[in-house]
Amino acid sequence: IIELDEQYLVQNYKKFDVAFTYGSGEFLYNTNGDQFYDFISGIAVTNLGHAHPDLVDTIQEQAKKLWHVSNLYEIPNQEELANRLVDETFADTVFFTNSGAESMECAIKMARKYWFEKGESNRSTIITFDNAFHGRTIATISAVGSEKLTKGFGPLLPGFVQIPIEKDDYSQLESEIQGSDVAAIIVEPIQGEGGIIPLSDEFLKVIRNLCDQTGVLLIFDEIQCGVGRTGKLFAHEWAGVYPDIMTIAKGIGNGFPLGACLATEEAASGMTAGTHGSTYGGNPLACAVGLKVLDIISQPDFLADVNKKAGFFRQKLESLIAEHSEIFELVRGQGFMLGIKCKVPNMDVVANAYEHNLLLVPGGDNVIRLLPALNICEVELTEAFHRLELTALSLEAAL
Ligand SMILES: *Cc1c(COP(=O)(O)O)cnc(C)c1O
Repeated sequence: IIELDEQYLVQNYKKFDVAFTYGSGEFLYNTNGDQFYDFISGIAVTNLGHAHPDLVDTIQEQAKKLWHVSNLYEIPNQEELANRLVDETFADTVFFTNSGAESMECAIKMARKYWFEKGESNRSTIITFDNAFHGRTIATISAVGSEKLTKGFGPLLPGFVQIPIEKDDYSQLESEIQGSDVAAIIVEPIQGEGGIIPLSDEFLKVIRNLCDQTGVLLIFDEIQCGVGRTGKLFAHEWAGVYPDIMTIAKGIGNGFPLGACLATEEAASGMTAGTHGSTYGGNPLACAVGLKVLDIISQPDFLADVNKKAGFFRQKLESLIAEHSEIFELVRGQGFMLGIKCKVPNMDVVANAYEHNLLLVPGGDNVIRLLPALNICEVELTEAFHRLELTALSLEAAL
């Protein structure tokens, strides 16, 4: 398998030398049949675990009926899913995509078109935060601007400004956002790739107020933190601060490619017939899965249960950090979107946890991310935690 990879695939990924052939709930099984605790969930995607029986049934039933017709026609599953998303959120209207970056592209185009239609085509600049991640298209790497994403891919798309996340000093944000050329600001309520960095409720409120004063559109990127990951359907609900536009993907399809850009009617007003589109976006198969995912997450007690289990796990992590202070520094995040900042290189922790059949993913700021399936039970959380303890012990022994 590894030889074929090297021979036939673009070598842009750095992969572990393992292939998983089977998954069930919070477990993955490799080609030898070894069982692993999956605390990556395909990077916050399989929020309901692998091979969820209801999702398997849903996709099989829809596959027998209809996969794809294009957006030349009405797609009842798409209209129903849009209706559900609107009912559950601030939004009035939805555009469907197949991935996170495509959802961001829609959000960026929507914001610029909004101002164009208002006769202010000079208002095209979009503010983002340092350390953010919004995808890998030219527009979304230009938005973030970091050398890590952009080097060698220029010329980049103009019209983006990055500012730092300052804890108590909002002066740079205030002065940038007053600019007469600013169309929108893009915010991850909890930065994911950046290393699980939550923005404080207060900071989100300041941003919302500044947007209200200036008319600048507030775009939340909830591609990683959305769809139940933090214990609310969407992370911004914790702060009670609502955007004008929101992008989602990852968890909404539980692994089937599906994304969306949600917006208020006002923010979406520039997206008139023929101005944007997607061949596959909102196809019957993807939307059938999305509907079932929402059904499951919206069951009474589902999110309350996530918060209960996440609180239990968080306490254990706090004790882990206290006991292994040479390995770990602190834990942050919300619900099951958790990051531990490490004192040893985070890749060493990931590699060692792998030896204990626990799958973790690194993030920025020397963090390991813990992103288990939301429906994992306390018994399995405890066992996975035990493997984290064993990881800490072996790393300590090697110091
Ligand atoms: C993963 C991610 C994206 C990009 O999603 P893709 O489906 O890989 O294009 C954008 N923003 C955030 C916050 C993400 O975590």
